[in-house]
Amino acid sequence: MAVSWPILVGTVAALCTTLAFLPQLFKIHKQGSAELSTAMLAMYLAGLCLWLVYGLLLGAVPVIAANAASIAIVCAVTWGKLSTRANVERPRRLRIAIDMDEVMADALAEHVRRYNAAFGAEFAIADLCGRRLEDCVPPSQREAVEAMLDASFFADLAVMPDCQEVIRELAARHDVFIVSAAMDVPSSFDAKFRWLQRHFPFIPPAQIVFCGDKSIFDADYLIDDCARHFARFKGRPLLFSAPHNAAESHYPRVDSWKAVREVFAQLEGRSGRPARTSAAFRGEPAAARSTPAHAR
Ligand SMILES: [Mg+2]
Repeated sequence: MAVSWPILVGTVAALCTTLAFLPQLFKIHKQGSAELSTAMLAMYLAGLCLWLVYGLLLGAVPVIAANAASIAIVCAVTWGKLSTRANVERPRRLRIAIDMDEVMADALAEHVRRYNAAFGAEFAIADLCGRRLEDCVPPSQREAVEAMLDASFFADLAVMPDCQEVIRELAARHDVFIVSAAMDVPSSFDAKFRWLQRHFPFIPPAQIVFCGDKSIFDADYLIDDCARHFARFKGRPLLFSAPHNAAESHYPRVDSWKAVREVFAQLEGRSGRPARTSAAFRGEPAAARSTPAHAR
């Protein structure tokens, strides 16, 4: 049978142009579609549709078949691009790490209460500005003061004002993790876990992290009263005000849980103002990340 060169060339050409978008379809699946022009796809699809109409008007079966197949493939590529972009543009939930002692739980008030009761002292929170309790007591009492941080100490701590309400709100919009350097007092694990379950039952156990070095934790924000945890933390620090960190000026600071609420409302763009202009958010996060910590 004699080979019809025009038909052969036409068939190969139709196969090439029809299947040209198949490799693109696989590439989108593996690497995404950022470099693919939506306008080009739209114009190409319009052209294919017109070719299909042209083929239908002339009753040209090869033209109809080739363009119908091309339309199917280009539609799949376009769908892949649009769905990938929708995934990329969907706002990501922030991951917020929150310290426990002196941020969620009023450990200082309990520590001062126990010290006053044990030594007949009359220490007040206001006496501790810029210092920890251990730094204020006579050296002979220091060991006893540190020994007060036993398992029972963490069982009945008061919850900081507005803490439950604000964390519940944050947890509804973001991924909230409780991150405590519980290795400072290894016997505190059980008491801390039970305290969290009692006061914050909406935080799942999988989002409670007891650790030693908080820099291992990958989060967007860390709310903590101890600046030492910010030194190697890769996210943004938020120093929660406590008497011992009164002199710390290297990190953005929040004075209360209402201030935390305001900071994240502004970060989310719900207030129309950038967070760094907020009265609740004092400091510049970018500078803070490159500054060594000075707190203990
Ligand atoms: Mg703390």
